[in-house]
Amino acid sequence: MAEMNLAPNFVQNAIEEDLKNGKYTEGIHTRFPPEPNGYLHVGHAKSICLNFGLAERNHGLCNLRFDDTNPTKEDTEYVDSIQEDIKWLGFSWGDRKFYASDYFDKLYHYAEELICKGLAYVDDLSAEEIKEYRGTLTEPGKESPYRNRSVQENLDLFRRMKAGEFPDGAKVLRAKIDMASPNIVMRDTVIYRIAHAEHHRTGNEWCIYPMYDFAHPLSDAIEGITHSVCTLEFEDHRPFYDWLLESLGFDVNTRPRQIEFARLNLTNTVTSKRKLRQLVEEGHVRGWDDPRMPTISGLRRRGYTPASLRKFCEEIGVAKGNSLVDVAMLEHCVRDDLNENASRVMAVLHPLKVVLVNYPEDKSEYLLADNNPMHGGSRFVPFSREIFIEQEDFMEEAPKKFFRLKPGGEVRLKHAYIIKCEEVIKDEQGQVIELRCSCDMDSKSGGPTSNRKIKGTIHWVEAKTALKAEVRLYDYLLETDADGNVPADFIASLNKKSLEVVKDALIEPSVKLTAAGTHYQFLRMGYFVVDPDTTPDHLVFNRVVGLRDSWAKAAQKG
Ligand code: ATP
Ligand code: MG
Repeated sequence: MAEMNLAPNFVQNAIEEDLKNGKYTEGIHTRFPPEPNGYLHVGHAKSICLNFGLAERNHGLCNLRFDDTNPTKEDTEYVDSIQEDIKWLGFSWGDRKFYASDYFDKLYHYAEELICKGLAYVDDLSAEEIKEYRGTLTEPGKESPYRNRSVQENLDLFRRMKAGEFPDGAKVLRAKIDMASPNIVMRDTVIYRIAHAEHHRTGNEWCIYPMYDFAHPLSDAIEGITHSVCTLEFEDHRPFYDWLLESLGFDVNTRPRQIEFARLNLTNTVTSKRKLRQLVEEGHVRGWDDPRMPTISGLRRRGYTPASLRKFCEEIGVAKGNSLVDVAMLEHCVRDDLNENASRVMAVLHPLKVVLVNYPEDKSEYLLADNNPMHGGSRFVPFSREIFIEQEDFMEEAPKKFFRLKPGGEVRLKHAYIIKCEEVIKDEQGQVIELRCSCDMDSKSGGPTSNRKIKGTIHWVEAKTALKAEVRLYDYLLETDADGNVPADFIASLNKKSLEVVKDALIEPSVKLTAAGTHYQFLRMGYFVVDPDTTPDHLVFNRVVGLRDSWAKAAQKG
């Protein structure tokens, strides 16, 4: 399992305080509780790292539990992808994979227990009426005319709800608490509803389903969770959870303690499954794993590494107040990881042919090139009379400070020779299509003129052996305001230029037959990863991030 270096945080402090006070003597137990109604996103990564990280730090356990109480929105596709993503991030739930639906029987019995204690009733009000009766933040709610049914009548009606006697929406089961409570969640929260819908695990066994607010705290309690770590929007629900567990006799010294933390919000990014699903279903992206998506599967395909996402989650920390994290920080984390671990190769995205006029036609050599400044290693790159360079590395009318190739100017070819531009060849439209250069044959590494002072060094590939590749360059999926906030109408803010496909890039032959998921630094061009669309005769790369690190720069300035 992956190691997390969680910085000290208030959740950890709360756990330590509990242990000091003699609570939870059986050990610490957390859980990650996704609803399988979509793919996980980067916000979930924060919750996963936190829950598994806390368990690890306190020598406890972390469960995976699917909160699958919403049969119409859930699917096994999501159940599968969620497991894949958590494993890929480096965490293990061991043999503790659970489903709220495992507890449907138990939950049903708890509901009957509440009824028997006079703490729940069957209500015939419609959904709209319940809303109307609920009151507002400033006005108390109104009691339902069905609120004072006898225990016997409630029990009978609830059993008939379960038996399928009533259509969807005809009745609900509600907790009987206090319609005048200042906390709206305490105003007789609905705890069961009728839904004649097939569930992805229990099929048609049930036609009533527990509400999230009922199933969630009880599932935690059933599993012996000690610390239910969740996001801030559940703060108002905590009194209800406590009321429920108290009413059903769960011991205060062992039952779950809920602690809320701030969701991750990222600039330029939507992190809501509902919105992400809309992007997928309306075809604005290729799927949940489109490399522009902030889903874990999208980030994986984009070339993010598990270590970089874990690092990001460590760096952002855990706080009590909502804030917006700069997406540049996420990019910084993957850049840092790939800078250390990705092999360097040469690739030319927009090729311009260069013929070395004095280089013998039948000569061919292999030049030594280093793979990675930190881990060492080297390879040979082929070199001969015809090569390609990047179009933008040549300028016919170059400004003074342009230290790449210009007519009459010299430049060093990385790992190879110094060349000088002697002649520019154009087509009928005046487009530059080829350069004729001379080659200083003594300037190879170790050669007599290799130390000549040359301002610019550019990358290149040999024409004969270069592999063709498709390269996909990404920009942010969404346009934002100056602070990086995505407008509410995010579909209208879609960036039309978020994907640029370069069909005829050329790359050095060492990357032949490389597996999907392999990372490279293309010298001077950024970090790239082999896309799963790659076949033996069609290489496809995604650009992960460029080389420039705006985050590190800003951090340095302070
Ligand atoms: P969404 O709004 O994207 O559907 P959700 O909270 O409904 O998110 P769940 O499947 O219920 O999604 O989430 C599982 C866990 O992940 C919950 O404990 C939730 O609090 C947490 N979580 C979801 N989004 C974020 C986020 N942006 N930052 C941190 N934790 C999150
Ligand atoms: Mg949710």
